[in-house]
Amino acid sequence: MPTALIIGASRGIGHEFARQYKAAGWRVIATARKSDDLAQLTAHGCEALPLDVNNLNDCAGLAWRLDDEKIDVAILNAGVFGSRTNGLQSPQQEEFDQVMHTNVLAAMRLLPLVLPMVENAGGKLAVLSSRMGSIGLRENNVAWLYRASKAALNSVLKDASLSTQKATCIAFHPGWVQTDMGGIGAEISVDVSVAGMRQVIAESSRVQNGQFLSYDGVTIEW
Ligand code: NDP
Repeated sequence: MPTALIIGASRGIGHEFARQYKAAGWRVIATARKSDDLAQLTAHGCEALPLDVNNLNDCAGLAWRLDDEKIDVAILNAGVFGSRTNGLQSPQQEEFDQVMHTNVLAAMRLLPLVLPMVENAGGKLAVLSSRMGSIGLRENNVAWLYRASKAALNSVLKDASLSTQKATCIAFHPGWVQTDMGGIGAEISVDVSVAGMRQVIAESSRVQNGQFLSYDGVTIEW
């Protein structure tokens, strides 16, 4: 039975990844930071692990629990948006730290822990980036802190892809998705977004290593 690891599975896109892989008969290891969400994931048949991605002890605990596992698909989904600024409004230090720690520093801590387990399986590792992180496609400067964090995450993913001979590392734009973050007016449902990304992951090979892809498989400019 293949194994999926979903980091940040309490709600939204991460929760849907856990639900769809479970429904497809996979073993699913899913993380959340609140006890209610952990209980709900367990009730759905997932192996639920506590993880606040900004907590070093939690990250060490995850590494210990997953030691020597073979992970076929790992999804680093946890992320925050921060304020919806327009133009060059300097962020407060606290908000900068929250967005950059969650979206970038956590990836720089977790990818080195998780990638060896994905390599054990010759598997796939995906991070939830965003088209808003693309510098080449930049059309406005709404939410520049979030954009900067996803551009940095893309750099982190690219470097992870260069460090592996065995795994396939992909940065995803999930579409504009109806979640707490995307809002109810967003373009696509969470099941369409996740089904698309699962298909792209399933059809990917080492050719896709280090690529920035949309949920429908279209290449996104860095
Ligand atoms: P949601 O806001 O609906 O969910 C965010 C998820 O991240 C929750 O599971 C949340 O857990 C988790 N999370 C946040 N901070 C932490 C933390 N410190 N430790 C552990 N988990 C944390 O977002 P979406 O589902 O919409 O987005 C998922 C990813 O996709 C994000 O990285 C986002 O940037 C990206 N994305 C989303 C788009 C959209 O249109 N929705 C578009 C482009 C990219 P908790 O419930 O505990 O807060």
